[in-house]
Amino acid sequence: MTAIREPKSKLLLKRLGKVLVVKLMLPIRFFLLVIGKTMGREVCKVCFRPQAVCLCQWLPRCDKRIDNSISLLILQTPAEARHPLNTGRLLKLGLCNCELVVSKSFNQYQRLQDKLANYQNPWLVFPSDEAVAVGSAGFQQQVMPKVQPDLLVLLDATWRKAKAMYLESDDLKSLPCLKLEQLEQGNYRIRSTKIADGLSTLEAACCLLQRIENNKNDYRPLRRVMDKMIDMQIDAMGEQTYRKNYLE
Ligand SMILES: [Zn+2]
Repeated sequence: MTAIREPKSKLLLKRLGKVLVVKLMLPIRFFLLVIGKTMGREVCKVCFRPQAVCLCQWLPRCDKRIDNSISLLILQTPAEARHPLNTGRLLKLGLCNCELVVSKSFNQYQRLQDKLANYQNPWLVFPSDEAVAVGSAGFQQQVMPKVQPDLLVLLDATWRKAKAMYLESDDLKSLPCLKLEQLEQGNYRIRSTKIADGLSTLEAACCLLQRIENNKNDYRPLRRVMDKMIDMQIDAMGEQTYRKNYLE
């Protein structure tokens, strides 16, 4: 049996069709690739996280932020500001009285000096040799009745960098220091810990505020946002990698 040959004009049309499809598909595929990549990298303008893992829906609305009576000033390094698991920014977005400043150095830093001049009893959260442990007898009997903090300065950086920030700044060294001592178990499951033993900056701040304000506010909603962020990160890396790198 011989194959029935298609007429020449039909064959030409078929070839032309194939060429057109290939020529059109290439730019379309390239366009889709670029759009996809751009969308994947798009960052939320509020929480600064990639759109795919934006935390805004879990953060309190602007009018529902927690009204902390002791103000916070967070001094953050640029490296920490760029880190996807930066909890300092979550504090800024969840609290009414919280300022976050980013700089390589806080030595002779104007905003820090202005802020310190505007408060009666600013304290630095840092475990210096003279630091008073929150919750200790010394804190309850000496600090609270006389010089109850109205501003807490937190260093949002790795422990090494926080120590360097402290040592190079006379303004920071002039402040009385508070520290946390094994108050609770942190839930910061995927990063090395910072200035407070086992706690992230957010956990340390919430814990300190809770204690010093004597449970005036409930900071659990903010801590849940941090838990959500960590859950998302564990999902992204996969349970197996998480177990291998952080649990075993
Ligand atoms: Zn967001």
